[in-house]
Amino acid sequence: MARPVLVAGAGIGGLTLALALARRGVSSEIFERAAVLDEVGAGVQLAPNASRALDALGLGSSLDAVAVRPEGVFVVDAPRGRRLKEIPLGLRAERRWGAPYRVVHRADLQAVLLAAVLAEPSAALTLGATVTAAEETADGAALVLDRDGGPDRREGAVVVGADGLRSVVRDAVKLPRAVRETGLVAARAIVPAAALPEAFPVSHVSVWLGPGAHMVVYPVRGGREANVVLIGAVGDAAPEARVARWAEPARALVAAADRWTDWPLFDRAPAPRLRRGRVALIGDAAHATLPSLGQGAAFAIEDAVVLARLIAAGGPDPLAAYEKARIMRAMRLPEASRRQIAIDHMGGLAARARNLALAAAPTGALLGGLDWIYGWRDAEA
Ligand SMILES: Cc1cc2nc3c(=O)[nH]c(=O)nc-3n(C[C@H](O)[C@H](O)[C@H](O)COP(=O)(O)OP(=O)(O)OC[C@H]3O[C@@H](n4cnc5c(N)ncnc54)[C@H](O)[C@@H]3O)c2cc1C
Repeated sequence: MARPVLVAGAGIGGLTLALALARRGVSSEIFERAAVLDEVGAGVQLAPNASRALDALGLGSSLDAVAVRPEGVFVVDAPRGRRLKEIPLGLRAERRWGAPYRVVHRADLQAVLLAAVLAEPSAALTLGATVTAAEETADGAALVLDRDGGPDRREGAVVVGADGLRSVVRDAVKLPRAVRETGLVAARAIVPAAALPEAFPVSHVSVWLGPGAHMVVYPVRGGREANVVLIGAVGDAAPEARVARWAEPARALVAAADRWTDWPLFDRAPAPRLRRGRVALIGDAAHATLPSLGQGAAFAIEDAVVLARLIAAGGPDPLAAYEKARIMRAMRLPEASRRQIAIDHMGGLAARARNLALAAAPTGALLGGLDWIYGWRDAEA
């Protein structure tokens, strides 16, 4: 493909795509509306499926310099502060799924991806360029742009919408832009590791389950800080009030976090399409999901490496092949994430039954339930 692949959006999906294309000798141009790429302070979990793809792109050692490999996940009954289960990660995860489980600050992940993309002469990144439309041309596809200097238009071989939740490229794929209200909001904060109560060891991911809300805590920045995400209903009280009936360590942690950022949560009903003609979608633009399985970014990474491989292979219709390869998985994630959050937020008797079942479940069975997500590997890998 002599003409470049045009990519809308330089988020995790767009950057991974440009890098994966470059590694296979395909040129790309990315257009990002932000004038500077500066991720908000928050973490991201890179489960083995994401790690495997990033490692294959040669990013493993750069990631290990900034990430933490947690030993496991502590699942805790939040009102009582009682540990229900430890789901082992660490070496056990690596053995089972063939790649490490990492947790990382989003800014660090973005910096690793960005440095790798900028080092590739065949990947060109333009900041401050808002995509206003995508369209097919007689023999390719084009992006219509709004830039500092005024309107612009770029033509390429294909267009990929990696423009996130509010994707405008969806119009060209004839999919609705509308997102689903979930009624949930994520409050996110970064806390120094020294301020963490003992119940939240930096060696582990901690998941505290309460009625109508749950909290996820894990180390970032090599373990010097912790990412805290508290998810509950929109319009409910401030974080302190949300955990008022939870055990003391949770209340102490929430009190220690002084700067919260609210992040209303949306997802999309699964769509039966990932492309139309020479325009395709990846990541949140294609299948926005709740964060309850920690897989939104991971699926964007999976999409990117599959699409890059198929474009580079140069078959008769790479985007159709991409859709075929990804559609079932893309449709499964949002619904699975919804089911998970319903379980996480149970109260009363349902929560007691869940807790009993979780405590009694054999570890192997819990790990087996994650195989479809973490065990993913690209056809070529
Ligand atoms: C609270 C929370 C916790 C999460 N935790 C995890 C986790 O642990 N693990 C995980 O895998 N996922 C997690 N996710 C999900 C993950 O953040 C997203 O799924 C992921 O960022 C999607 O990547 P993307 O590249 O598709 O979109 P984005 O990262 O949103 O990137 C889209 C990019 O496109 C740009 N853009 C948008 N519109 C335009 C336009 N018109 N023109 C040009 N540029 C444009 C944006 O500025 C942005 O840079 C979490 C999400 C939330 C809310």
